[in-house]
Amino acid sequence: YSTAAALEDPIKPPVSVEYDKLLINGQFVDAASGKTFPTLDPRSGEVIAHVAEGDAEDVNRAVAAARKAFDEGPWPKMTAYERSKIMFRFADLVEKHNDEIAALETWDNGKPYEQSAQIEVPMFARLFRYYGGWADKIHGLTIPADGPHHVQTLHEPIGVAGQIIPWNFPLLMFAWKVGPALACGNTIVLKTAEQTPLSALLVANLLHEAGLPDGVLNIVSGFGPTAGAALCSHMDVDKLAFTGSTQTGKIVLELAAKSNLKPVTLELGGKSPFIVCEDADVDKAVELAHFALFFNQGQCCCAGSRTFVHEKVYDEFVEKAKALAMKRAVGDPFKPGMEQGPQIDQQQFRKILKYINSGVESGATLEAGGDRFGTKGYYVQPTVFSNVQDDMLIAKEEIFGPVQTVLKFKDSDEVIRRANNSPFGIAAGVFTQNLDTANTLMRALRVGTVWINCFYTFDAAIPFGGYKMSGVGREKGEYSLKNYLQVKAVVTPLKNP
Ligand code: ADP
Repeated sequence: YSTAAALEDPIKPPVSVEYDKLLINGQFVDAASGKTFPTLDPRSGEVIAHVAEGDAEDVNRAVAAARKAFDEGPWPKMTAYERSKIMFRFADLVEKHNDEIAALETWDNGKPYEQSAQIEVPMFARLFRYYGGWADKIHGLTIPADGPHHVQTLHEPIGVAGQIIPWNFPLLMFAWKVGPALACGNTIVLKTAEQTPLSALLVANLLHEAGLPDGVLNIVSGFGPTAGAALCSHMDVDKLAFTGSTQTGKIVLELAAKSNLKPVTLELGGKSPFIVCEDADVDKAVELAHFALFFNQGQCCCAGSRTFVHEKVYDEFVEKAKALAMKRAVGDPFKPGMEQGPQIDQQQFRKILKYINSGVESGATLEAGGDRFGTKGYYVQPTVFSNVQDDMLIAKEEIFGPVQTVLKFKDSDEVIRRANNSPFGIAAGVFTQNLDTANTLMRALRVGTVWINCFYTFDAAIPFGGYKMSGVGREKGEYSLKNYLQVKAVVTPLKNP
C-alpha cells in the first residue's frame, strides 16, 4: 500500500439528517439538559450532526412513557394480529426507504454503502417480518399435573425492556432487540451507541408511520456511563438486553443486580477460531477466512479472528491470504465496489494500530498491511500476521479491526484444545470436507455457533449468542422470545365428580 496516498474528498452522501432528537412518547424532543453531542463521519472525522444527548433525566422520562404505554396499553392489550400487521407494514416502509436508510447507516458508521443497501437494510426488514410472524404464535400450555387440577401457563410480556446496542451494526442490532420485544407485546427504551445514533431515529419514525402507538418505543441517544447506566439501574425497567464489550457487560449485570434484579441478556466479545483442516481446498479456505475476518472492517463480535491452519497447508495459505488482503478494495464506502471503509472512530483506529505494533513487537511476521490507509479518516490497511503464537496479545484479545492472525496446528486434538483455550465462546468456523472431522470439531468447540464451510450465515431464525464470557442468552430465532416473556402458571382445582 502507499501509506501516503490520500483518499479523495469524501463523497457527499445522498441523504440528509432529519432526526437528531430523542424519541419519547412518540415525540422527537430535546434533552432535558438541552445538551447535544456530535456524531462524526468516520471518513474524515468531521461532524455529521449534533444529536440531543440524553442522560438520567431523559431516561426517567422515557421509562415513564414506556411504563404508561405498557400499563395502560394499547400495545400489550392489542390483538397479536394487530401488532404483527404493524410490524409487517413497518418492514414494507423500510423496503420503500431502503436506499435512504442505507445511506444514513453508511454515513454514520463507515461501512460500504453496497453492504448497507444490499444486505443490512433488507435483512432488517426480514427480521421484522420474522418477528411480526411470531406475534400471533406465542401461547402457553395446558399441563397434566398431579391431582385434580387444571393447570395452564400464560406467556405474558415482561414489561418495559431496556435495550443498549453498539455501533458495529446499528440497524441489525436494533432489529435483534426491538423485533422480539415488540412481537411479545413489551414496551421499550432503547439506548443507541454514541458513535451511531442516526439510523435508529430514522427507522423509528417509519415505525410510527406504520402505526406503532406512542410510548411503545422510546429512544435515548447518549453515552454509556450516563444514559446507559441510568437505564441499567432504573427500578421501573423490567428487563435488560445489552450488546457490547465484555467489560461493559459486567457493569450492566452489576447495575441490574444492585437495582431491581431485572433479568439481563448479554451479547459480548469474542476471539473466534476459524479452523482450516488439512484436506481443505486452500483457495476456498483463504477466501472464507478472509471474509470471516475482514467483513465489516473486522468489527464483528464473532469475527474469525484466530485463523488456525493445518501445518500441511500453512505456507500456501499464508501466501494466498496475504495476496488476497493486499487486493482488498479499501476506500470511500460510498464509492461502488469498495469492500472496506474506515473504522468507526479514532479510539478504535488507535487501538487497532496499537495491536498491530504489539504483534510486530511480540515477534509475529507482518505479511501485509500494518499501517493506516491514506492520511485522512480512520482507514486501516488490511493486515495479515503469520507465525502467531497463542500467548501473543493479538491472538488473545479482541482487536475489532482488519487484522488477520494466522496460527499453525498439527492435529484435531491440539486445535480443539487451543481453540477452546479462551475466555470467549461466541462462534467458530470449521473448513473441511471430511464429515468425521467436521462432526468431531462441531461437538468439541465450546461456542454458541459453529459455521461449517460457511461463515456469518445470519438468518432471522437461527439463534445467536455466546458460551463463557461471550454472553448470556440467545437472540434471534424462537429462542429470543423467551427473553421477553414471563411465564405465569395458573392452577384451578377440578371439582371431583
Ligand atoms: P464498544 O467498546 O464496542 O464501544 P461498549 O460496551 O463500550 O462497547 O458499548 C456498547 C454500548 O454500551 C454503547 O451503547 C455504550 O454507550 C454502552 N455503554 C458503555 N458503557 C456503559 C455503562 N457503563 N453502562 C451502560 N451502558 C454502557
